Amino acid sequence: MTVDLTEPRILRPQGTGRFVFLCDHASNYIPAELHDLGLPASELARHIAWDIGAAGVTEALSEIFDSPAILCNTSRLVIDCNRHLDASDLIPEVSDGTVIPGNLHLGEAAKAIRIGRWFHPYHAAVEAVLLEREARGVPSIAVSVHSMTASLAGIPRPWKIALSSHLDRSLADPVLAALRRPGDIEVGDNQPYDLDPEVDYSVPFHALRRGLPHLQVEFRQDEIVDATTQRQWALRFAQTLK
Ligand SMILES: [Zn+2]
Repeated sequence: MTVDLTEPRILRPQGTGRFVFLCDHASNYIPAELHDLGLPASELARHIAWDIGAAGVTEALSEIFDSPAILCNTSRLVIDCNRHLDASDLIPEVSDGTVIPGNLHLGEAAKAIRIGRWFHPYHAAVEAVLLEREARGVPSIAVSVHSMTASLAGIPRPWKIALSSHLDRSLADPVLAALRRPGDIEVGDNQPYDLDPEVDYSVPFHALRRGLPHLQVEFRQDEIVDATTQRQWALRFAQTLK
């Protein structure tokens, strides 16, 4: 059996920009040894496997700011890198109505393999980038990039972009105001998701723990369907970060 470590992707680790972009759900890749988790390709293409379009937006943001980006290279169905290790949906058995056969009744040993091969390497890569910047005296602003479905349970989502925040809104408030200023789109403020340190892992662990300024952003998936629109949205978001 081949062992697929599937290293996270790190863009511009020496980038001079002040942002560090994280993309927890960048990929729908399932390591070969997990046999697609028993799912057909049609399910692996759905949002349950990844944040559709988020990787392209993250790549564009990294380029625009000459900032590091760390992208997880395995599907959230393998292990969700934005969940705490004791979360019940760390390795989901069901996601948006789809049973994940390869995740049913996993034993502790199988869970430990997933954590060791695909959870820790991603977070170690984020940690390494942040520590190296700290050592160089470069301040960092952590920006976690996600995407959301255009509707959930048949209810359309009006927000083309949304920010998720917790107690510290020092960055979220001015960015929300800037996103709303043109008046042409609805912008979600903790809708559809807030940032919950009990549920979310990446921003709490890497940014809140360090007291780093941070943002968590959701782009609506029907707005970022190809490289052109992903870049357009990255540029619009980038304007508000400047
Ligand atoms: Zn996500």
